Amino acid sequence: LMQLSVPLNFIGFVYREIRQGLTDIEQMFDLLEVEAEVKDPEGAPALVVREGAIRFENVHFGYDPQREILKGISFEVPPGKSVAIVGPSGAGKSTISRLLFRFYDVSSGRILIDGQDIAAVRQDSVRAAIGIVPQDTVLFNDTIAYNVRYGRIDASEADVERAAELAQIASFIRELPGGFDAMVGERGLKLSGGEKQRVAIARTILKAPPILVLDEATSALDTHTEQDIQTALDMVSKERTTLTIAHRLSTIINADEIIVLKAGEIVERGSHRSLLAAGGLYAEMWAMQREATEAEETLRRAREAD
Ligand code: ADP
Ligand code: MG
Repeated sequence: LMQLSVPLNFIGFVYREIRQGLTDIEQMFDLLEVEAEVKDPEGAPALVVREGAIRFENVHFGYDPQREILKGISFEVPPGKSVAIVGPSGAGKSTISRLLFRFYDVSSGRILIDGQDIAAVRQDSVRAAIGIVPQDTVLFNDTIAYNVRYGRIDASEADVERAAELAQIASFIRELPGGFDAMVGERGLKLSGGEKQRVAIARTILKAPPILVLDEATSALDTHTEQDIQTALDMVSKERTTLTIAHRLSTIINADEIIVLKAGEIVERGSHRSLLAAGGLYAEMWAMQREATEAEETLRRAREAD
């Protein structure tokens, strides 16, 4: 029965997606293709999560054999700690999160959660242990309460509201016509990127996974929204093993370790301070973001003076 429940759940998931007209056919095939990439070994046990430690051991990976994307990646996220991955676009940051979620199997090396190779345990058990807050959240054509509750279907109304509060989205929801029962998604109310992301954070707070993967939004959010989202992210990542893919370096200065990835290799690692002192790629990226922020500020002030 356990083995059957995986594909059935997945079919249910795809069915819901189609029914709600959210996923176009192409995306659905992408999803199915990805699913087909990994198979559970015969009689694989479920992952047993004790503390939520993540360990990458000399991981090599390429989407196709001709082109290696990750070239020997090793790092650890100790239980409850946070590690940030930064680096130029195309470096392989999102690929690391896809491998951890076991959308693909590594070509060589290992990925361990609490000492267990994720390729040797059931993939549904790996995915149950990990909460992902993606860059762009897709909302279901349903009520906002449903969209939050998706994190834990049996959550009470009070739990849903509490999660929304922690995610800094509750007061926004209460002002909607219909409040938590307002319809959202393609055929309902359209939420902004930042609002959708906070719904995803509320979902993840409800799911309360031992391991968190955050893919930060690249799009420039206004300062107020950015602060709200940061507060929400800090809330959800507190005391959880957290892997953050960071675009805005200002949000990860307190990470326990920062890994700088370039063309599939770790070129620098350390704390914010030590990386700045090293004067390498990280320091360069930091200086560039500083300049960009200052330019924006100057522009904004000039506009306000008009
Ligand atoms: P980052 O998140 O650092 O911007 P990604 O991990 O998304 O980078 O991508 C790393 C490289 O892998 C890029 O060159 C990208 O084009 C390639 N890539 C990403 N996804 C796929 C895929 N599904 N098939 C083939 N190549 C891919
Ligand atoms: Mg990416």
